[in-house]
This record gives sequence, structure tokens and C-alpha cells, in this order.
Amino acid sequence: MVMSLHSTLIRAAKEKWAVPHFNVGDFEQFRGVCEAAAKLRAPVMIGTSEGERDFLGLPQSVALVKAFRDQLHLPIFLNADHTRSVRAAKAAIDAGYDSIHIDLSREPWNTNLKGTREIVRYAREKCKRKNVKCKISVEGELGYIVTESSKVYKKKILVDPSTFTKPEEAKKFVRLTGVDRFAPAVGNLHGIAANKPKLDFVLIKKLRGIIPMNVALVLHGGSGNSPAAFKKAIKLGINNIHISTELRIAYVKSEHASLHRQKNELAPYKLAAPVVEAVRKKAEYFIRLFGAYNKA
Ligand SMILES: [Zn+2]
Repeated sequence: MVMSLHSTLIRAAKEKWAVPHFNVGDFEQFRGVCEAAAKLRAPVMIGTSEGERDFLGLPQSVALVKAFRDQLHLPIFLNADHTRSVRAAKAAIDAGYDSIHIDLSREPWNTNLKGTREIVRYAREKCKRKNVKCKISVEGELGYIVTESSKVYKKKILVDPSTFTKPEEAKKFVRLTGVDRFAPAVGNLHGIAANKPKLDFVLIKKLRGIIPMNVALVLHGGSGNSPAAFKKAIKLGINNIHISTELRIAYVKSEHASLHRQKNELAPYKLAAPVVEAVRKKAEYFIRLFGAYNKA
């Protein structure tokens, strides 16, 4: 029996390391991340955005995670990342996802609060009905992160601090929704900008101080931050970090090189092998950096 996501996150918070969350959109990425987790005995979250899960399929994503988790005996969890509607979140819960990130951060406060609370209730009810030891972890988000994960921006992007999450609002949001994980806007960006993101460490510390310890504090848009910034953010209370763009870059670079090197190769799995390895190495780098190795 592997550890639950909830207990893994609580352990990470206590011991000051972070559970890595890697986005995947195909089997090569799945395999690369799971091989990294197996090699370093690390708990990992695998996330599919709405686009990624449309491509992979909901039941197919659930089956793949289960297959890797059972075979490797590792805490590998599937998260429905940035789910922007209550309907899509319920569909992921019904399909068997371990975790839902309901992201209504672009909506007004009341809509966000109501929708997030509805998903927390739906997840709890689902577990009750299953009549087994079940805990679907739900993440809510407050404060709008302005950019996209599929982009490497040529320009500098400076986020206006007035749009960052306010600690008192965060506390209220967590209390009223009952979420298991909370994603704030603290200067983080999706994608990679020409400048390093300027994380507001004072705000991270304040948020950790005001939000109960059994609620994970999630950093989205991990790609593009310096190792020192990650370490500081973890020390101050971040215990779950999302990486997408850097895995995508490793994937695409390696795929181009593989196709170029093996012009006459017709077996797709031979062309894909270096891609899996590139994803694995990148995932291993972050697992080590976040202190998540040997924690499974
Ligand atoms: Zn994100």
C-alpha cells in the first residue's frame, strides 16, 4: 500500500521538501517521469491540463497512472491540472483522478468560492460512495497567474504585485472551501519569460503562517526559477511545485535531434527512446532539487 497524496504532502511540509508535479501529454512524458520517480524512489504528481487530458483521454490517463503505480509500488498520483469549469472537474473525479485542481481564479471571488466548494463536496461524496479508504485531493487557486505554459516569452514579464494573493483572503478562501491544497499568485509565471520570475518570499512566508499546515502550499509555473529561488521557496513553506515548460523543452529538443540523427529509422519506439530519456533526466533534476528523492 503506497502513501496517500495527502499524507505525502503533509510529510513534505514537515520535512521541508516539495512534491514535484510534472505535466504530461503523451506516453513518452508519462514514461520519462515514472522512470525518474522509480530511479530516485520519489513521490510524484502527474498532471494533465485540459488540453493534455483531451489528447490522452481521461480513463486512459487514470489507467496509465494506476499501471505505473502498481508496477513500481510508488506514490504516483494523477492531478487534473488547471480545470477551469465545475463540469470538467466532476468529469475527472468520475473518471478516477486522484486529485483535482479546480482553477476558477479568473472568475470573480464568489464564483470561485462557490465552484471550488462544490468540487470539494463532490470529491468527498464520491469517496463516501466508493466505501473504501479514499481521499481525492482538491486544490483551489486565488490570484491570477497571467501567462501560458506552452510559451517561452522573448520579452520580460513583470507581474504587478497588486495582483498577488492577499493573505487574509487566502485564509478565508481555504477555510470556506475546505481545499487540501492552495495555489497562490506570488510573482510566479507559467511558461518562461526573458527575466527570472521575482517571487515574493515575504508573501510566501506570510501565507504559510496563515494557512493551516494540513493544507499544501503549491507553486505553479516552476519552470524558469533559479535553484536558489526554489530552495528558498521550499524553506519558507512551499511543498508542491509544478513543472511543465522545462519538460516540454527537453522533449521537443530531443525529438528534433532524434529525428535528425535517425533519418532512415521507421520504428517509432526507437525514435522515441531518446525523448523518454531526456524527459527522465529533466524530471530527475527537479526531484533532486526539490529534495523529493528517497521519500517514497
Ligand atoms: Zn499551473
